[in-house]
Amino acid sequence: MIKKYHADIIQCRSFQEVKTRLAEVLTRYGDVFPADRDAQILIKPNLNSNMNALTGNTTDLRLLAAVILFLKEEGYRDITIGEGTNSGFYRTNISVITRLRVDELAKYYGVNCIDLNYSEPFLIPFEDGVQAGIARECKEADLLVNMPKLKTHFEAGMTVCLKNLIGCLVGQENKKKTHLSLAANIVNITENCRPHLHIVDALFAMEGLGPTKGTPVKTDTVFIGTDPYFIDLLAARFASCDPDKITPLRIARQRGIIDQELFAAAQDFSLTPYDRPFAPPEAGPIATFIHHPKRQKYFLAVRNTAFFNYLCNTDLFAKLLFFTDLRQDVFLETEMEWEGLSLAEEQCNNCGKCGEYCPVDLALPRALSEQDMQQCIHCLYCFCVCPQDAIQFHGKLGFMEEQMKQYDTMIRSIA
Ligand code: SF4
Ligand code: SF4
Repeated sequence: MIKKYHADIIQCRSFQEVKTRLAEVLTRYGDVFPADRDAQILIKPNLNSNMNALTGNTTDLRLLAAVILFLKEEGYRDITIGEGTNSGFYRTNISVITRLRVDELAKYYGVNCIDLNYSEPFLIPFEDGVQAGIARECKEADLLVNMPKLKTHFEAGMTVCLKNLIGCLVGQENKKKTHLSLAANIVNITENCRPHLHIVDALFAMEGLGPTKGTPVKTDTVFIGTDPYFIDLLAARFASCDPDKITPLRIARQRGIIDQELFAAAQDFSLTPYDRPFAPPEAGPIATFIHHPKRQKYFLAVRNTAFFNYLCNTDLFAKLLFFTDLRQDVFLETEMEWEGLSLAEEQCNNCGKCGEYCPVDLALPRALSEQDMQQCIHCLYCFCVCPQDAIQFHGKLGFMEEQMKQYDTMIRSIA
């Protein structure tokens, strides 16, 4: 029986360690798991953009795979990965789920995968009498597993368990409603969704201008627990971030959802903060000026017009938004064209790092050397982390070129 205000914090580097340590912990959460092996299980990762987990932006495929393997080992048969990726990608018809290879991972491990943006909505109350639709699957799952990424966030301060639940909202129309009163509506979603279990991916977290323009921080850490407010308070302590600067936590305290007992328990919980405070999410002067609480409503009124949406889809205006930090995502329409990976044997020093990152456990680098790659799901984790540049990609990187431009050197230096 997991006691009130409990969490587990584990350290793991390789996929093997993630699987072993997570399973050790999850076996202690027996009362969270349904007795019926046909129960509907929904795993809700954070697939915020098409930047892979190593950038600090999205949930690590290795952690997702470890959760699925644990559930399958326990005998569960109805497991689905579901996410409603962010409005910009939805609007431009880009499938982040496919780009991040989550659908291929699901296929490999024999589970379902759905885009919650197209689900049937279940209406929940938002601020000022507004109603918004969350995916019915989130409401009806017998076990909802929330798997956020730990990262700084320009508007909310930090995004962990609470903020990740925005992805439960159906389509852009419902997501837009959140921004009318962002922090309060994040709390509203949390109170109406209430996932049973939270597994936070901080293997590669993000600091600085998150959620999409920040810097990856490899902390090798995973948080596990059942109370989203408690875990978010722990995550704030881990990153040495003032919880009052995390707007959903501030609202939850004002509403008494986080009471003195919960707050004190999170402050007293034994936790070693990361080596140094995370850099805060500071944007440029234009974005900071516009996003000031006194002015943001005017920006939102403009942002929600058809003309602004049209402008957003033009190259020049999109570049301007990105340059001023008003937009952090880059919506490249070109898909990746995969012809294969090969190994430059003379460059490989057999460090074994590629094998530690492969979410389908291919025996790397041998499988590369022998071209025994039929099970590869094309996630490119091995390619991104190789310190020797020994793994060569054949084909066209397409949308991945942007990630490589921004993050290639950073990821290789910390992986
Ligand atoms: S990460 Fe690179 S250098 Fe290390 S074993 Fe793999 S291919 Fe070789
Ligand atoms: S071999 Fe590389 S690209 Fe293929 S699944 Fe493994 S890590 Fe991903």
